[in-house]
Amino acid sequence: MQGLMMAEPLRVASIIEHAAKWHSDTEIVSRRPEGGIHRYTYAEANHRSQQLARALLALGIENGDRVGTLAWNTHRHFELYYGVAGIGAVCHTINPRLFPEQLVYIINHSEDRLLFFDITFLPLVERLAPICPTVEKWVLLAGPEHLPKESVMPGLCSYEDLLAAQPGGYQWPSFDENTACSLCYTSGTTDQPKGVLYSHRSTVLHALGISLPDALGCSSADVIMPVVPMFHVNAWGLPYAAPLNGAKLVLPGAGMDSASLFELMETEGVTFSAGVPTIWLALLQFMREGQRRFSTLRRTVVGGSSCPPALMKAFVEELSVTITHAWGMTETSPLGTASRLKANQQGLSADEKAAVLAKQGRAVFGVDMKIVGDDGQALPHDGVAFGDLLVRGPWVVRDYFRTPTPGELTADGWFRTGDVATVDPTGFMQITDRSKDVIKSGGEWISSIDLENLAVAHPAVAEAAVIGVPSARWSERPLLVIVRRPGMDVSAEEMLGFFRGKVAKFCEPDAVEFVEQLPHTATGKILKTQLRKDFAGYSVA
Ligand code: ADP
Repeated sequence: MQGLMMAEPLRVASIIEHAAKWHSDTEIVSRRPEGGIHRYTYAEANHRSQQLARALLALGIENGDRVGTLAWNTHRHFELYYGVAGIGAVCHTINPRLFPEQLVYIINHSEDRLLFFDITFLPLVERLAPICPTVEKWVLLAGPEHLPKESVMPGLCSYEDLLAAQPGGYQWPSFDENTACSLCYTSGTTDQPKGVLYSHRSTVLHALGISLPDALGCSSADVIMPVVPMFHVNAWGLPYAAPLNGAKLVLPGAGMDSASLFELMETEGVTFSAGVPTIWLALLQFMREGQRRFSTLRRTVVGGSSCPPALMKAFVEELSVTITHAWGMTETSPLGTASRLKANQQGLSADEKAAVLAKQGRAVFGVDMKIVGDDGQALPHDGVAFGDLLVRGPWVVRDYFRTPTPGELTADGWFRTGDVATVDPTGFMQITDRSKDVIKSGGEWISSIDLENLAVAHPAVAEAAVIGVPSARWSERPLLVIVRRPGMDVSAEEMLGFFRGKVAKFCEPDAVEFVEQLPHTATGKILKTQLRKDFAGYSVA
């Protein structure tokens, strides 16, 4: 027997419709890449998204067509999220920090028909245009006064001109909720980029899921600033969750440096933010240098790579800002787990609470998970046994766009994350490592994440990475690579001594190397594949 409830399909446009109707005067504030601050309301954002929808239809964009973006977090990018998806096309957010050859690969692989770009990327797109033949039209996300006098880009026009030619008042169409709405390629940290094609259904469910208090937690009383870029897994869903909850949205544009972020947080009253650890490590240093304090920021979500406990401690104790540690992947929309204390953990000591919160957290409803051994059998949730982390749920990838990868799912339908993890008896998952980064020493596994987290707790260390290097006796041993804080010194001996007594003897790094900077991926993670190349041939006694 079927239920008798309305079969209203879940659609992305229903989110902006809702915000325009019920939070019509709530603001979206963004820093324009071409200069200045732009400020308008959800009602106006809906109107302009409808103008965009009409413009796309006039250009012949059809259901399923890919529309690319090379853009920062701005109101125009926000309009693209809704205008493109709203007509049944696919908003393909491209990470401009990828290598040019990866960008060309991605644009050609997805066959984007239009490409919208911020003025910052003008020199880049001039180089891309001749080698991306599927793109019929390039659109500069600015007014016509910013268009270059001459250009090789086919059909180049300005976004503001495109919109000005269209009336609003468009009725968002209804269609099957499994229709694709956005596309994001993995950043290729360990492989070629692969496309993850989200649906309206998965996106709306994910936006609801991340809004829960134990997940990212969003409310109409929040002022949300996603520092995580809108090209990095849809800014973790916040451009959907903010309007869904009626929260004010603050978009930092190209100003991703600490001073610009801090200024915007203060002037706009940001209460809640989100981003990768590198951003917060830099911001902490900036806050310390100027003995600054946040007047409204209360909470931030940190994920994308492991959040060092020392960073969490400094944020709470020095800046009165709580960090929610979260785990996810492009393939999981991205939220999988978040670390929030349960009622029966409130009475723990401060240190015990910190140890729980440092884990990647509990499964959010919508993502089921398990850890399995080499034989595929589930491992116990004892906080000790570690194995491959598998997930499944309505916002987890089933296959990659145009790159069928059958091996990624188990026979019984679980997605292999490529991460190795433990789960404790209270359900908190902790990532030990990516399976490709774990260091295999003798018969033991050493977690590079544990060692990196410890290293950055040393006052002279700005950033640290641990990789396995060949050892004749143990097969692999940990090498610690460090970037020192400006003006601070620490010797290799002192650094090695810092680990003594803090980790098991066999886990202590064998050697330390100092570098000026570490290689990073396009999403701000340490690029270990490059680091392993840099230290190829290095071996320890
Ligand atoms: P890419 O795989 O290209 O780096 P993703 O952003 O999808 O792009 O990366 C997902 C991976 O990032 C996860 O599989 C995991 O290894 C790592 N990761 C994400 N969040 C965390 C976290 N909180 N702690 C440790 N690792 C994390």
